[in-house]
Amino acid sequence: MADLTIECVQGDIASQPDMESIVNAANARLMPGSGVAGAIHSAAGPELARECESLAPIAPGQAVITGGYGLPNPYVIHCLGPVYGVDEPSAELLGNCYRNALMLADQKGLTSIAFPAISTGVFGYPVEEAARIAVATIQSTARELTSVRRVRLVLFSDHDLTVFRNALNAGGNSG
Ligand code: ADP
Repeated sequence: MADLTIECVQGDIASQPDMESIVNAANARLMPGSGVAGAIHSAAGPELARECESLAPIAPGQAVITGGYGLPNPYVIHCLGPVYGVDEPSAELLGNCYRNALMLADQKGLTSIAFPAISTGVFGYPVEEAARIAVATIQSTARELTSVRRVRLVLFSDHDLTVFRNALNAGGNSG
């Protein structure tokens, strides 16, 4: 825990060249879509969708890993977040996304991973609750990690950046 850095930045998840892996807020079929999935697939190119075909479908909370292709990152970790109010228990399933993605990156020996705010777009998760779950899960998983040293939360809007920063500060970390 002591040597895991957690930071919040505003930006585009597909433009994080210094991270070894980025997380896709995927759909069950792991196909290009809107929001995060659209940005990642268009930067990665069609080879990403081809690799994804053999791994789909995935269930809420699950994570799978692929190459990054045209992205600046060698790996993409695809997570299916819960649809708020539909996939239950939502909080547990959202926490599973963060935990499973971190464990997968760690098993691959990766040192860095960048997350978007999973489920807070089309899937309708309230951003304050999602931020609390993200920060608490990353912090509680930290002690099990052996290679991951840097976790970045990439927020699209000013408002989401503030909410995530507040959640991180409330959780006893800075960034
Ligand atoms: P979900 O279907 O899991 O809700 P979305 O992709 O619809 O996923 O949105 C998740 C969050 O990511 C939303 O807060 C959205 O504003 C944000 N977002 C959309 N595009 C990007 C991007 N290119 N980089 C980072 N965050 C993004």
